[in-house]
Order: sequence, then C-alpha cells, then structure tokens
Amino acid sequence: MNISASTVIAGVAGSPIRHSLSPTLHNTWIGATALDAVYLAFEPVSFGDFARGLRGGAIRGLNVTAPFKQLALDLADTVSPAARDAGAANLLIFEKGGDISADNTDGIGLLAALAEQAEGFDPGQGPAMILGAGGAARGVASALLQAGAPSVRIVNRTPDRARALAANLSGRVEVVEPEALANGLADASVVINATSSDLVIPLDSAPRSVVVLDMIYRPLTTPFLARARARGLRTVDGLAMLIGQARPSFEALFGSPPPDIDVRSVAIKTLEGRT
Ligand code: NAP
Repeated sequence: MNISASTVIAGVAGSPIRHSLSPTLHNTWIGATALDAVYLAFEPVSFGDFARGLRGGAIRGLNVTAPFKQLALDLADTVSPAARDAGAANLLIFEKGGDISADNTDGIGLLAALAEQAEGFDPGQGPAMILGAGGAARGVASALLQAGAPSVRIVNRTPDRARALAANLSGRVEVVEPEALANGLADASVVINATSSDLVIPLDSAPRSVVVLDMIYRPLTTPFLARARARGLRTVDGLAMLIGQARPSFEALFGSPPPDIDVRSVAIKTLEGRT
C-alpha cells in the first residue's frame, strides 16, 4: 500500500469498532485494484462532532454502524429513499460542496445474502419475521417489503421500539408481542435475527420451507444458525450480508464496483484469526 497526499480516505465509524470486518473487506478490494485509496476504522467519542467536522470532503465517506446509524441520518442534508424508509443510515458521503448524503445498503446486503445462500428463496411466499428493532432491523424491513414480502413482522424485547419502527414504515408492518412469536412464525418465509444477542425461538412452529438468517457473523455459524441447521432448515450467515452491503458502499465511496475476487475467504481467515 502506497499512501500519498492524494490517497482517497474512507472508513467505518462505530462504537465499539475494533472487531469490524469492514476494513478487511474494503482494503482487500482496494488492494486488488489500481485505486489510490485506504479504508480505516474510527471510534469517535462524539459521532456528531466527528461527522460534522468532515463536511467538505476531508475524507470521502463513512460506513456507519451501531450505535450511530440513526444519528448519521439526522446529520445528513440529502437522504436516499432506502435511508429515509429505514430511519437509519449506514453510509455517509461527504460531498465537496459541503453536503452530507446518507444512504442505507443493509437492505441490499440482506437480499444479496438470501439470493446467494438460499437459492430460489422468494420473499413473496410469506411474511418476514424480524427479531429486533434496532438500526439493522430498520435497514432491512422496507427492503423486504419492496422485494415482495406480503408483510413484515417485528418482535422486540422492548415492544415500544418495534412500534416506533412500524410507525416509520407505512402499512404491512405488524408488531408481534414476544409471547406470540410461535404464532407469528407459522407461515413465515424467512426469520431474521437482527438483535445483537443469541435468541432461542420456537423454530418448530415455522414451516419446513423457512429460511433462517442471523445478522451476527462472529462466529460464522452462530448458535442461532446451528439450531436451525439441526432442524434441517436452510440458513444464511451474517457474513454474506456484510459483504452484500459492503459492495454498494464500495462503489459509492470509490466510484467503481469492487473487483470480482473471493473476499469471503479473506474475511473468514480474519474471523478465525488466521491472518
Ligand atoms: P442496535 O441498534 O443496538 O439494536 C440491538 C437490538 O438487539 C435491539 O432490538 C435490542 O432490543 C436487541 N437486543 C439486544 N440484546 C438483547 C437481548 N439480550 N435479548 C433480546 N434482544 C436483545 O444494533 P443493530 O445495529 O440493530 O445491530 C444488531 C446486530 O446486527 C448486531 O449484532 C450487528 O453486528 C448486526 N449487524 C450485522 C450486519 C451485517 O451486515 N451482517 C449489519 C448490521 C448489523 P431492545 O430494543 O429491547 O434493546
């Protein structure tokens, strides 16, 4: 890597950020191209001050992760439909003129992961059940509706947060009380763990055709996915989603799509501490 005064800088901001795989993905792609660019990780004390200080393009842009996704949206001058529907942004671009643009690529990432690892999956076949109502859940709910899901059901430890998410998305989003989860799973096409915790859910209530996705990717096969596999259900891992959301982020940050290389193997080596 040859850093110079003209090197394009981008990165990811979150707290904690130390274990983020995003620098591995983006720098692997950068390394396979002729781009003069670098992708770093930031853990700002005050995300608002940090991002406002980058107005004008001191760096090209930032992916944003927990707990800053909603604040990132509030800071932006222009907001994509995906970020607006989600009420959260995972990507900020610092325009040269001073504006901050916000987008959300989590929905694209989720759909790419389903297409890659659950071949033939059709979101139109039944309601999507999302566990969790944080930034990640917000990012994917509207994408599932747009992809043809007849409805999205949200169940969250704090039901008020689920209700706030549902209110942000007009129609076709139902809040399911935690005690009614088994009923809500009965005709689900997909169940998605969008919490930061391992949840034990009544998978025996779900149809055999259900696809189970865990956004958590550390470890790659989470206990949540292992239980689904033990029941013979199809599963999709969080790393596929992470790579799926990173692809459009890379293009927005660096102006060209990432090269077609096996970035997943590199990420798995990093996850396993083999690099
Ligand atoms: P967040 O905004 O902090 O939301 C956390 C969610 O988890 C909330 O719904 C919270 O419920 C729930 N939760 C936390 N601990 C729980 C527990 N012990 N029992 C039940 N529910 C619990 O985080 P986020 O940004 O949405 O991220 C959620 C997870 O998705 C994280 O693990 C993150 O790394 C992952 N993620 C992965 C990708 C990917 O590309 N693979 C993308 C985005 C996020 P309350 O509202 O009740 O607190």
